[in-house]
Amino acid sequence: MNSKVVINRINDLEFYTAPNLTNIEFTKHFFSTRVGGISTGVYESLNLGLYTNDAGENVQYNLNKIFSSTKMNVDKITYLKQVHSDKIFRVNKDNYLEVRGQEGDALITSEKGIPIGVFTADCVPIILVDSYNKIAAVVHAGWKGTALNITGKVLKYMQQNMGTNFKNVVGAVGPSIGPCCFEVGPEVAKKFNFVYENENRLYVDLWKENIRQITDIGVPEEKITNCMLCTSCNSNIVFSYRKESGNTGRLGTFVEIL
Ligand SMILES: [Zn+2]
Repeated sequence: MNSKVVINRINDLEFYTAPNLTNIEFTKHFFSTRVGGISTGVYESLNLGLYTNDAGENVQYNLNKIFSSTKMNVDKITYLKQVHSDKIFRVNKDNYLEVRGQEGDALITSEKGIPIGVFTADCVPIILVDSYNKIAAVVHAGWKGTALNITGKVLKYMQQNMGTNFKNVVGAVGPSIGPCCFEVGPEVAKKFNFVYENENRLYVDLWKENIRQITDIGVPEEKITNCMLCTSCNSNIVFSYRKESGNTGRLGTFVEIL
């Protein structure tokens, strides 16, 4: 596993990229931060959450800004109304408008010019790329999605329907709540393998849980980058739902096939 991500700065905008994904010449991607937008108050400032109560025109401005800075195609962005499920949508040029806004938590595409993404603030955003068949996927894995093995199911879908060989998959785990801060009750802890106890409190490592889903199916561990940036510990640069009591913006994680 690789923990090296790069912070990119373009004027006042800051976002992360994973070098193992940047090295794949037919994709572009980013993990946004909260730095460099125009939203105010709890949404300060690069809120990309289209389903928050922030002013719609501010969110659109922020999206346009990061998409133009990264030279990605904002007109065809495709995202879901995330519901902590294991529902997966495959996107192409004929259905992307129809898929946009449906209830689900993972997107897969082999179509050029259609950025697919998820919005998060603590939940785990994951990008997976089949570097041989030119397929990209993006996953929203909170604890419920993680318990449903959504990341493993996305990979299985790619293998069964799109011919993916797992040894050609490259992936990255973005900023999300770390094992340092993700305290859960015993009922939730029971569902997971990577559980830690500290002063009679239970913590789950959602990073390791999801990386285990990726490697168990056959993706080599060295092909996965883990950002290892805890949203709750770093709420000055990324949004954290827990740290800010549910009243906050959303980070965006997008990938596009060129
Ligand atoms: Zn933390």
